[in-house]
Amino acid sequence: MLQLRPTCEHCNKALPPQATDARICSFECTFCAHCVDTVLGNICPNCGGGFAPRPIRPTHNWKGDNFLGKHPASGVVKHRPVDAAAHAAFAAAVEEVPPSQR
Ligand SMILES: [Zn+2]
Ligand SMILES: [Zn+2]
Repeated sequence: MLQLRPTCEHCNKALPPQATDARICSFECTFCAHCVDTVLGNICPNCGGGFAPRPIRPTHNWKGDNFLGKHPASGVVKHRPVDAAAHAAFAAAVEEVPPSQR
């Protein structure tokens, strides 16, 4: 099940489950939209993949206990700020390839 991580890995901004500016890679590395756009260039610093908006898990039990109350967000903060120079070097090779072909 998708891990709803509590903060942006880079700037540590709070990203509660209802945040519309949370972005994730396919490994659930979680960043805010601002960092994805301005710091990361849509390249995950951990895997090189692209990002997509994180879906909002319903807060209401609309159907079959598939909601936040039964499957709560993660409380484990992963704050691993990206080194801008190191990421630029990493991204230089990756950014030539569109996310769908990485
Ligand atoms: Zn951020
Ligand atoms: Zn990743």
